[in-house]
Amino acid sequence: MFSMTIDGKPAETVATFDVVNPTSGEVEEQAPECTPDQLDVAMASAQQAFASWRKDADARRGAMEDLAKAIVANADELTAALVRESGKPVAVAAAEPAICATWLGYYAGMDMPRETLVDDDTALIELAHRPLGVVAAITPWNFPLGLAMWKIAPALRAGNTIVIKSSPFTPLASLIMGRIMGEVLPPGVVNTITGGDALGAAMTSHRVPRKVSFTGSVAAGKKVAVSSAADLKRVTLELGGNDPAILLEDADVPDAAAKLLGTAFFNTGQACALPKRIFAPTARYDEVVEAFAAVANSLRVGDPYDEATNLGPLSTKPQYERVTELVADAISHGARVAAGGGPVDGPGFFFRPTVLADVSEGIRIVDEEQFGPALPILRYDDIDDAVQRANDTEYGLCGSVWSADADRATDIAERLEVGTTFINTHAILPPSVQFGGAKSSGLGVENGLPGLLSFTEAQVVHRARAPR
Ligand code: NAD
Repeated sequence: MFSMTIDGKPAETVATFDVVNPTSGEVEEQAPECTPDQLDVAMASAQQAFASWRKDADARRGAMEDLAKAIVANADELTAALVRESGKPVAVAAAEPAICATWLGYYAGMDMPRETLVDDDTALIELAHRPLGVVAAITPWNFPLGLAMWKIAPALRAGNTIVIKSSPFTPLASLIMGRIMGEVLPPGVVNTITGGDALGAAMTSHRVPRKVSFTGSVAAGKKVAVSSAADLKRVTLELGGNDPAILLEDADVPDAAAKLLGTAFFNTGQACALPKRIFAPTARYDEVVEAFAAVANSLRVGDPYDEATNLGPLSTKPQYERVTELVADAISHGARVAAGGGPVDGPGFFFRPTVLADVSEGIRIVDEEQFGPALPILRYDDIDDAVQRANDTEYGLCGSVWSADADRATDIAERLEVGTTFINTHAILPPSVQFGGAKSSGLGVENGLPGLLSFTEAQVVHRARAPR
């Protein structure tokens, strides 16, 4: 039985909701639905724990290192739950507990900066950073543990306490990690709750949290921003993307196709920062389409536990229906299917790795975030036109430019209106590098020192040295 962890203890399960295994398409588990009273208890517990947790940075570092070890020790159980609820191939799922340990170790080892602004006869003025208090953390279903730890590790290091909610599609691994956190950390430091979108909304409008850290869709992110504004909670929003990848005429096409398509279909295409629109020069268009289609056709879709599997199912039924609909819509508007083209027959939410050619703006799969294994390849004649079209979207998460001339590619890459622009690679996201979206892809950043500071409030400490 899966239970929430509130105030360091398993919480009583009052009501439950269904959890579907996307490999079978069947309901396989029940997860606890957090009641309004339980949310209040979780918030009060986090608020109480904050008073002592904020005081001792060395104790926090030690606890974070212990937590990393406990997560590694329980990695098999966490991985199995992830495979069950999300359909990820086991190797992709196994990366998540490892990411958690890496992020905890990175932030446990980081010093909180304290900057001297003035140091003269009159004063010592320093800039320090205080924790905010209780953080409400809300995560999506595509990387349930990894994206949670992008919030938990820096929030804990800075001295905050947390109430965290996973996506209702993928509560299981998060509940297990909640149990582990409850065993290792003092009671109330991290409270793990589960429930639907209404619970997320109740968290953002709750009077206790001083910060909301949200990862999810643009539509929900906008609601979170409005709700948090009521009492000026600090907000970080990591939202969707529609990343462009532009190949220049001198790009190494087979290399770019292998890397870009492998990245685009990582986690069955379900990640925010993946290539979602490919721009190819007309002179090399057919070669590019052929190369991408060959890579797509070489990928195996199937049982997440089969080591030969590259792509598991889409993780949720709505996502499966959405990708199916977007591909059918593109085909009905004249897209040429270079690979794949639709769902796999049979149970579960499996979809064939799909490459669409002869597509352009004005078709939904180009204009919207597809979040699945279906990639449109667009044609361009003029690089300025390609850059303008790449930027002609509300999204601005990442982008990339591919060329044998890295300097020229860098010049073009810097013209993309995105939070991270890559040259001859895409979606490499180490813990030390800040990550965030431009435009509607987000507000604020996670990771690196800026990610840590986003869980603090700056405080000027002004010590007078001489009477004035
Ligand atoms: P979603 O917005 O539907 O849900 C995300 C979380 O928010 C869930 O826990 C959900 O219950 C909760 N939620 C929904 N409505 C809410 C509200 N009004 N107030 C508070 N919480 C609410 O997104 P999803 O479908 O789970 O995830 C996919 C989306 O997440 C994609 O758009 C993807 O690009 C984005 N994403 C972004 C990043 C990033 O770092 N930029 C990373 C991964 C995923």
